[in-house]
Amino acid sequence: MTDETKERIDRSDAEWRASLTPEQYRVLRQKGTERAFTGELWDEHRPGRYRCAGCGTELFRSDAKFDSGTGWPSFTAPAADDAVATETDRSMWMTRTEAMCASCGGHLGHVFPDGPGPTGLRYCINSASLRLEPEAD
Ligand code: FE
Repeated sequence: MTDETKERIDRSDAEWRASLTPEQYRVLRQKGTERAFTGELWDEHRPGRYRCAGCGTELFRSDAKFDSGTGWPSFTAPAADDAVATETDRSMWMTRTEAMCASCGGHLGHVFPDGPGPTGLRYCINSASLRLEPEAD
């Protein structure tokens, strides 16, 4: 947890459209899902911080990333407890837990209870929602 006050980022739809790629917009703002094994980050192994592609908030760290075999970047935990918000998602005839950037509300992916230790959670995240800031050598 950080001490800084979370600032809610509130942009208009037109501003989001102008600042994101079409794929980022489709995923982050329209709750889209990229096809498995097509994103840039599912097979990424460099150390670093994963930031929200919408607002730049740090969401995940590479030390929590694991190979889930799903074709999407997968993490056991967010970078900070309050970085990622969750909500029940009943779309697609399933009940799932949606993961969102707590700062800008952007859709990230879903959280499933079948992850490895220590949390037992699998944050299944679209590459399009993330931007890796690699650690400096
Ligand atoms: Fe964000």
